[in-house]
Amino acid sequence: MSKHVILLGAPGVGKGTLGQQVVKRAGLAYVSTGDMLRAEVAAKTELGNKIASILAAGELVSDDLVNELIKKAISKPEAQKGFMIDGYPRTLYQAKSLEAMPQGKIDVVFNIELPAEEIVRRISSRRSCPKCKAVYNLIYSPPNKEGICDRCGAQLVTRADDNPDTIRNRIAVYEKNTKPLVEYYEKKGLLVRIDSSGNDNEPKIRDMLAIIGK
Ligand SMILES: [Zn+2]
Repeated sequence: MSKHVILLGAPGVGKGTLGQQVVKRAGLAYVSTGDMLRAEVAAKTELGNKIASILAAGELVSDDLVNELIKKAISKPEAQKGFMIDGYPRTLYQAKSLEAMPQGKIDVVFNIELPAEEIVRRISSRRSCPKCKAVYNLIYSPPNKEGICDRCGAQLVTRADDNPDTIRNRIAVYEKNTKPLVEYYEKKGLLVRIDSSGNDNEPKIRDMLAIIGK
């Protein structure tokens, strides 16, 4: 049976990593709005050119345009075995538009959760190499020699927007924007909370697979 899954979670909760593993093991199509926007622009389709000019003007891509992209993605042959959408819906309007699409009936909404201070700890442990762009994490994937890039020997740096105050602010904005959506899916009985704490992802992935029946 095909499954239609939505993935919600603040930046830094490890949503992408969990999502990719579940998609791979459950044989679902992975639908990411960010990837799709970039692909349309690169393919220079009529829609892609429209998006490119909106982004060039520094404006936000409208709900209707994102809806159009999603509708196209979930009606593709590879999505007929089931799909997981990452990065959409972001608003109640988008959620209701999704439901009205021919393939838009949703079975499960995973909300990947992690206490804010744990997100801060994870993100502020990121270090990146200004020279070769390699990314390290002092908790999960530290460099061999402290502060030095394994690949090219350059001095590692912390990205300016990875400081604790900016991260806390980013989480607060995300939670405020997403709260109505979480409540909406909770009322429908579709919301499943996944606790993302702990370094071992395997039990979380197995829980998610069991919930979607894979
Ligand atoms: Zn480097």
